[in-house]
Amino acid sequence: MTVRGNRGAIYNAENECITAYFSSVEGGQVFSDRVCRSKWWRDRAITPPVKHIIIKYPVPAGMSGTYLLDEGLGEIRFTPLALSGLNMCHEHAHFLTWIYPDQYRNPHNHDEEDHSPTFARMELEIVKRFLSQADGAQLEKYFIKWKVKY
Ligand SMILES: [Zn+2]
Repeated sequence: MTVRGNRGAIYNAENECITAYFSSVEGGQVFSDRVCRSKWWRDRAITPPVKHIIIKYPVPAGMSGTYLLDEGLGEIRFTPLALSGLNMCHEHAHFLTWIYPDQYRNPHNHDEEDHSPTFARMELEIVKRFLSQADGAQLEKYFIKWKVKY
């Protein structure tokens, strides 16, 4: 599947990155809780803020994605091979950059407009802050290679 635009560029950049995978869904949940409880997250949350995200893994193959279950309660579903630190940061960035209010009810985060320059910038910030500076530098290198707008 070839994906064009900024979304495709982001996917290409991510595919070249080598980052760690969580060894358990519990580890992914601990990571998510740390992000969602941080002042950094609260300062950037759109209204109403998502205060807790349930990490669901594994879900049948398809695409990972973000969902809003209730006000302030999100869910990220990861397919069997997707539970990486980088993917975790990607999906969290969607919660901070949904553009339309109705995406809270019906997120369509596989679209081009959901992978805007603002989204890419937010993903990079999450990687640098919550994964590692080295992972952030790696992602940014491939953002530049693939001409991601961020
Ligand atoms: Zn996405």
